[in-house]
Amino acid sequence: MNYKNSPILISACLVGINCRYDGTNARRKSLIKQYSKEWLIPICPEQLGGLPTPRPQAEISFKKVIDINGRDVTKEFLKGAKEALKIAELFGVKKAVLKEKSPSCGVRFIYRKGKLVNGMGITARLLKDAGVEAAGVE
Ligand code: SF4
Repeated sequence: MNYKNSPILISACLVGINCRYDGTNARRKSLIKQYSKEWLIPICPEQLGGLPTPRPQAEISFKKVIDINGRDVTKEFLKGAKEALKIAELFGVKKAVLKEKSPSCGVRFIYRKGKLVNGMGITARLLKDAGVEAAGVE
């Protein structure tokens, strides 16, 4: 297939990859249909950062990311975000469609102390700062 537009990064869980912390996905059929003519590049920043699947749930706490066992996984989250940005730069990505409410991919919302608050995930922030337009999907 020939694509007219530059590729779009998409959270891998949204297209059905079982990469969520609990080993499931967040497949959105309508989204796949909506972007069926676009060149999508699925990425899971938490896997790219070296975390296993399944893995303990994590939250952003001040400038760190801490999992439910109290382990500091900031390094892995930052590594995953940098790898995602590397892919974006390699392929000239200008847009990303990311899973809302995730500590990596959340664009407008993340969880803090178990409550939904306004905020951005680590990867969403890095991509946005690099000029990639990020859209969040619930
Ligand atoms: S890091 Fe992003 S792509 Fe990976 S499971 Fe979480 S929301 Fe989905």
